[in-house]
Amino acid sequence: MTIFRLHSFAPMHVALCLMGLFFALPHLTATAAPCTFVQVCDTQLGMGGYDEDKARFRAAVKAINAMDVNWVVICGDLVDNGGDEKAIADFREIVETFTVPCYLAPGNHDVGGVPTEATLARYRKAHGPDYFAVENSGFKIMILNTQFWKGPMAGETEKHDAWYLEELAKAKETETPVLLVSHYPPFLKTADEEEIYYNLPLEARARVLSAAKENGVRAWLAGHAHKNVLTEYEGIPIVVSATTSRNFDGAPYGFRVWSVDEQGALSHTYKALELPEELQKPKKK
Ligand SMILES: [Zn+2]
Repeated sequence: MTIFRLHSFAPMHVALCLMGLFFALPHLTATAAPCTFVQVCDTQLGMGGYDEDKARFRAAVKAINAMDVNWVVICGDLVDNGGDEKAIADFREIVETFTVPCYLAPGNHDVGGVPTEATLARYRKAHGPDYFAVENSGFKIMILNTQFWKGPMAGETEKHDAWYLEELAKAKETETPVLLVSHYPPFLKTADEEEIYYNLPLEARARVLSAAKENGVRAWLAGHAHKNVLTEYEGIPIVVSATTSRNFDGAPYGFRVWSVDEQGALSHTYKALELPEELQKPKKK
């Protein structure tokens, strides 16, 4: 059973204000250690005003570095134009100022709606692998390249599928709780909703979710929608978070903080960045 409840507590950092929902997961195994991690979405330098996006991303890094967190994930669309070398260089310069590990997932703006050899090579050269698994605080964190499901690419999609199933099977064998991290969420409201710009194709969605359910996935963190969307699939929370570039639901710019307590319960809350007035409103591109 999934428990939703409104929650409030004193902010850990005075420069941040806080809003959001807490979400408890009752079934974590003992292997997940108490920890805190952060979900940043769609830094997308150039989407909400280039200089403003950079400044907000910098402010997010500074705020996160001032907190006691174990790692950070960025759920794709790192830059608005994945072919813009200056934007990639600026993104790299800022992301490298994190004082904790930061794991990146690629988005459609980074590798294209349908990736190509060229866009993948460009991404991998700039940021490293576009999908990988890493262990931290007792979790297996699986960074997915959901473009291979949204816009399949012969050869690469099959390799990504095989890797996905293999990593999940290994996690099941060792009873390691898994966190999926991607750009696209599988769906926004219901698992059988029609395919739109903001979700995965039905066929891929069904098999990916079914494998997640069978293999100890505890949460799926995603971006792309530029708003806060909390849903779930058979007890697995699927959490899309608002961004630092542009939000379509009126959410303030910010990021989401996740915590795992001594009992292994996972909770999260959205934290708005405290920003100077000129950075609080998006600009036209
Ligand atoms: Zn996107």
